Amino acid sequence: MIRPILIHPDPRLKKLCEPIAAVTPELGKLAEDMLDTMYDAPGIGLAAPQIGVTRRLIVLDCEKEPGHAPRPLVMFNPEIIWSSEDLSTYEEGCLSIPDQYAEVERPAEVQVRWLGLDGKLQEEQFSGLWATCVQHEIDHLNGKLFIDFLGPLKRQMITRRMEKLKRERARQA
Ligand SMILES: [Zn+2]
Repeated sequence: MIRPILIHPDPRLKKLCEPIAAVTPELGKLAEDMLDTMYDAPGIGLAAPQIGVTRRLIVLDCEKEPGHAPRPLVMFNPEIIWSSEDLSTYEEGCLSIPDQYAEVERPAEVQVRWLGLDGKLQEEQFSGLWATCVQHEIDHLNGKLFIDFLGPLKRQMITRRMEKLKRERARQA
């Protein structure tokens, strides 16, 4: 089921999200809805607060090469347990901040530990777009958006654009 995606600014996007105690069938269904919503958007990552659920859950799939099979990942309580000193810069966007992009510098590689859909702990090292995406999505669980990396003027400009977009959408609804 495709869920509506919250648009910045929204207090639910600024919340510190609650950890998950156990992976229940309801949370499995929520993860499935999040993947449907992410692929439909289309996007490469989505965090639960973006659909108004302030729990520590993210989904991602950065497999963009034509001809490659999709690789949907579901992460409950994801944690970065190691970051490289090497940094890399990507032009980031966000489904909660449509059509706005900016360069953000982050560690180029990260080791992440999370609970999978099967309730088991998993660990993997990510690089390239996967590393950027997983860091961006984990930031959402801590109420942080990619525009928080930008200077105040740029951030305010984007926020004003989003307020205008929300007013326009509210009028059309
Ligand atoms: Zn985002």
